Amino acid sequence: RAKANGRNSCAVFDEVMREEAMRILDLEADLRRAINSDDFVAYYQPIVRLSDRRVIGHEALLRWRHERRGLLAPGEFIGLGEDSGLIEEVDWLMYAQVAKRLAREDFGYISVNVSPRHFLSPDFADRLLRLLDEAGANPHRLRIEITEGALLDDTARALRMLRTLRSNGVLVQLDDFGTGFSALSYLHRFPLECLKIDRSFVAGLVGDTRPESMAVVRAIQALAGSLGIHTIAEGVESEAQRIILRELGCQHGQGYLFGHPTEQLLPMASLR
Ligand code: C2E
Ligand code: MG
Ligand code: MG
Ligand code: MG
Repeated sequence: RAKANGRNSCAVFDEVMREEAMRILDLEADLRRAINSDDFVAYYQPIVRLSDRRVIGHEALLRWRHERRGLLAPGEFIGLGEDSGLIEEVDWLMYAQVAKRLAREDFGYISVNVSPRHFLSPDFADRLLRLLDEAGANPHRLRIEITEGALLDDTARALRMLRTLRSNGVLVQLDDFGTGFSALSYLHRFPLECLKIDRSFVAGLVGDTRPESMAVVRAIQALAGSLGIHTIAEGVESEAQRIILRELGCQHGQGYLFGHPTEQLLPMASLR
């Protein structure tokens, strides 16, 4: 009986695996089609000054308008996009939309995300600067968000890329800070504009893990201070978090408390 059962669950397992593989293949084919017809849209989330909630910029966040499945967030397809290499083309479609908005609307800076491998591809900076130029967008109003992985894979190349971007006006901020390997000894070498404090620490500021999270945020603030750069807290959802973050010396924040990602850019005024 046990043997029969085992064989049965094997068959079920095979079927599940097969369906999963088919689902991934379908999604990859969908992604290729979506690139051809540019089915992506940039959503924008405000980044504010914590003291008075004044909007200082926005982060552009990728959404896919899938014909059958509706609006998809990156979590549903970014892994596939990175594995297949298709994410690079999606990124360029995003950046083109952002460049158009920058040329048309004068509402602070917009930061865009880039996957580590894409950031390190040799012509990334040149292609980006050309795109901005052709759209008539000011490079000083675009920022790039990278994660620590992009810096540590090939530090020499990352440093060259950062210098090229910065000398042309494009600033770079370090995303999800505190979740990676945080090779602190390397950080001072890179010309970064700011550290984005990962939302897991912000979430931890209220609740059982409060002392630990406060210690982490304090350490990140001290590090940023010694590097002479500022911080942006991610995932700020409550007034209590906003107040603690301010007390800890964090200047800027982003999160549902201030606004969800939408298609609109907000003027640089204080939010209610
Ligand atoms: P990220 O760059 O760390 O972006 C922040 C994520 O946190 C976004 O998720 C945002 O919607 C979400 N978020 C904002 N405020 C709050 C809050 O108060 N609470 C909570 N729980 N979440 C909040 P989203 O839009 O699903 O994006 C996920 C990730 O996908 C991004 O993380 C980024 O790594 C990646 N991504 C987004 N757009 C692009 C893109 O154009 N290209 C590439 N390569 N990656 C992208
Ligand atoms: Mg980001
Ligand atoms: Mg982030
Ligand atoms: Mg994140």
